Amino acid sequence: MPYDQNNIFAKILKGEIPCKKINDDEYYLAFHDIQPKAPIHVLVIPKGKYISAQDFHEKASPEEISGFYKGLAKVVESLNIKNDGFRLISNCGLNGGQEVPHFHVHILGGKKLGPMLKD
Ligand code: AMP
Repeated sequence: MPYDQNNIFAKILKGEIPCKKINDDEYYLAFHDIQPKAPIHVLVIPKGKYISAQDFHEKASPEEISGFYKGLAKVVESLNIKNDGFRLISNCGLNGGQEVPHFHVHILGGKKLGPMLKD
């Protein structure tokens, strides 16, 4: 499956639609989720065109991977949730329930989040 150039996060990266930006650099962009599932719900996406976590981990360069995850750590730091704890989620593909086909990691926090999955 080729990368969809017009997915919603591609449009955010191109500046065609707005987002509530937290920060970015050459490797990543972090912004608030439009439908937060917790008091803190932030998305971190790579600047490169990768469909999913698996696509990113298989194809991105070591610099892109390192830059992305270092960026994610900076975002966590800036959200002041490092000590209380938080959850990272990356839904991948059909069974993972991924809706937007541009790799993203959800950062969820601000309260005790409960069990990882409902039955
Ligand atoms: P996923 O199901 O893992 O693909 O998650 C996609 C996430 O993107 C959902 O939590 C949506 O609420 C979020 N989302 C969709 N459109 C936007 C948007 N324009 N700005 C911010 N978040 C969005």
